[in-house]
Amino acid sequence: MQTIDRESAGSARVAIVGGIHGDEPAGERIVRRIADELPALDEGEERGDGVKGIVRLIVANERALAAETRYTDADLNRAFPGDADSDEYERALAPRLTAALEGFDAVLALHTSHSAPPPFAIFSDLTESVRRTVTGLPLEHVVDASGLRSTTLDSTVPHTVSIEVGRQGSEAAVEYGHEACLAFLRVHGALADEPPAFSETTVVEGREEVPKGGGEPHVHYANFEAIPAGAVFAEDDVHTHRVEEPGLVPVLASERGYDDIFGMYGRVTGVLKPPGEGELRVYPRDETDGRRDSAANEAGGEN
Ligand SMILES: [Zn+2]
Repeated sequence: MQTIDRESAGSARVAIVGGIHGDEPAGERIVRRIADELPALDEGEERGDGVKGIVRLIVANERALAAETRYTDADLNRAFPGDADSDEYERALAPRLTAALEGFDAVLALHTSHSAPPPFAIFSDLTESVRRTVTGLPLEHVVDASGLRSTTLDSTVPHTVSIEVGRQGSEAAVEYGHEACLAFLRVHGALADEPPAFSETTVVEGREEVPKGGGEPHVHYANFEAIPAGAVFAEDDVHTHRVEEPGLVPVLASERGYDDIFGMYGRVTGVLKPPGEGELRVYPRDETDGRRDSAANEAGGEN
């Protein structure tokens, strides 16, 4: 793990993590580019005292990056909180990464996938910082993964948002991810080159994974595209995944990206509003004024 600390324009302590997966080189490239662009910390300056802001840039899994493989012993993003005494490289790395992010106000973890654009964010625990990050990123959708795994970085380290910046190995992923990092730094006051921009973000609750069997795989709907009830989302020689429930959308849909799944089903639950615009919660999409009480919210949440 490599940690590079840089000067922040503000008081927040923010971190960007790349290279959690070694076969996703975009994250490391983005982190190093940001490191080149931000001023170095003054030698005499105290760091980690909570008084002055800091931008911490981390290249997480150097061993897997060198081997150009997702992981060496265990998937790091399925290994949290980890075990410092483990013989498995990633299980021992997880607590070191967690410690490097302790006390940070906002964390952005960079990923790429085999799935098609558009880019999207993922959170597990909605805090004010997470809301600020998500609504400040240049994207339309965020996946609420709170009902899914609890072994990921965003489910372990407070105020962490993961972002899928694009297709694995593509230049577009590096370019977009770089822009997303600048937006992240701006909304947390760490970069003062231009004012931060916020927008409502559609929240998609992550549901179950869609298993893949064997033979020729076909995926019929794109990420975040509504699958009509009765339509087939994906199929191969083993499975025909006909969707009976209305309102489902694919997340991380891919014909050949994963050995065992076509992706995941998600369901749109509403929108996150920018900081200062209403309470910290997901607003159902038909609720426009933001002033209705929580009982109305729960009733509307069924839509
Ligand atoms: Zn990844």
